[in-house]
Amino acid sequence: MQTSRLTAEHHIFRETLRTFIQKEIVPHIEDWEEKGEIDRNIWKKMGAMGFMGLNYPETYGGLELDFYYSMIFCEELSHCFSGGFAISALVIQYMSAPYLLKYGSEELKTRYLKPVIAGELISAVAITEPGAGSDVKQIKTTAVREGDDYIVNGSKTFITNGYYGDFFITAVKTAPDQGSKGISLLLIDRNAIGVTANKIKKLGWHASDTAELGFDNVRVPASQLIGTEGEGFHYLMNGLQLERLTAAIHSLATADSALKYTLDYISQRDVFGKKVQEFQSIRHRIAQMVADMATTKAFVQQCCDLQNRNEYAVQECSIAKLQASELAVQVINQCIQLFGGYGFTEDYKIARLYRDVRVGTIIGGTSEIMLEIIAKITIDKVNYSSNIAGSK
Ligand SMILES: Cc1cc2nc3c(=O)[nH]c(=O)nc-3n(C[C@H](O)[C@H](O)[C@H](O)COP(=O)(O)OP(=O)(O)OC[C@H]3O[C@@H](n4cnc5c(N)ncnc54)[C@H](O)[C@@H]3O)c2cc1C
Repeated sequence: MQTSRLTAEHHIFRETLRTFIQKEIVPHIEDWEEKGEIDRNIWKKMGAMGFMGLNYPETYGGLELDFYYSMIFCEELSHCFSGGFAISALVIQYMSAPYLLKYGSEELKTRYLKPVIAGELISAVAITEPGAGSDVKQIKTTAVREGDDYIVNGSKTFITNGYYGDFFITAVKTAPDQGSKGISLLLIDRNAIGVTANKIKKLGWHASDTAELGFDNVRVPASQLIGTEGEGFHYLMNGLQLERLTAAIHSLATADSALKYTLDYISQRDVFGKKVQEFQSIRHRIAQMVADMATTKAFVQQCCDLQNRNEYAVQECSIAKLQASELAVQVINQCIQLFGGYGFTEDYKIARLYRDVRVGTIIGGTSEIMLEIIAKITIDKVNYSSNIAGSK
């Protein structure tokens, strides 16, 4: 996105990142998509460049940059034609590690956050359960205090980076009878005794490992509690605004890539003695997509400004996620149509984008949940300044 906030330094950063992606990531995408596994060396390379700690303090190895660098990061990663790769990176930097930075003890930051920023450890966030997705309060995984440990029992599902990741920021019930006040966050190591993980086969995001997790009497040191017991729900609802904004940026950038790719195709494909791009109905369809994208982008840019000022923008981030993810699905649906039968083959990358973009309206709070939040604010005058944004 082009915002007047971007300086020469931001543009240089974009170029550096773009060059890195072309050299170190793009050549491996096909392989990672096919294997369903990202070579973890890439995180180390990205860590060495500072890309995994853009908005983290220097004390922990971060670069302490403003949010526009993160906006650029989300956009550029989304242009590499693999939603799976992009989401794995976004989950690490914007959807899981922030809980460690904001609420983790210094010991946890040293042991886990620093290595994440260096690209040595992969983090995940484990909230969703087989019986509780949108309604986070209904989670059933328990953590019962026993001496210096918690004993964790339960299961999670759809966890991005859940199979090859190293640890999970896990939502657990420490006081099951206290509703949202009984939820806490625990850092659970992937290799702890009693943790099992199975990969889930998915429609898209093939490069990314999505897992169901089992916790069978997993002993977790109490020192791995993140923040205060019983505050987990507040922490999660706070964190979801950043998650939704980065998801919105990702959706729009994916649609941008699809549109550029499609423009290239229709400028070359001959039908009835003309290029596809010469038919007026198609030109208008493209123009409408450009117009829709431009207005949504302007709104998402405004949300980036709010994020950069650290403002707690529940309504804005919900609108951004809703509009951007729904629009991206519509745009890529139209793009695939313009490829004709070739769009339905694996010979063209539009097929992958079509599969990958679909989940945008589901993850990090579905479109229905975004509408619920916006309706509560608009109709019921709910004030989320207390940092609790209801359901996921
Ligand atoms: C590929 C992938 C990766 C994911 N990664 C992660 C991750 O890393 N960590 C994690 O914790 N979770 C992750 N998720 C889970 C994701 O956040 C949930 O799938 C999502 O929140 C929806 O929950 P659910 O699937 O249980 O659907 P449900 O909550 O069962 O919803 C079913 C349907 O009911 C609708 N609905 C629910 N409530 C309402 C309402 N009040 N009004 C109207 N309609 C409603 C929903 O919109 C949906 O259409 C991932 C999911 C996928 C598919």
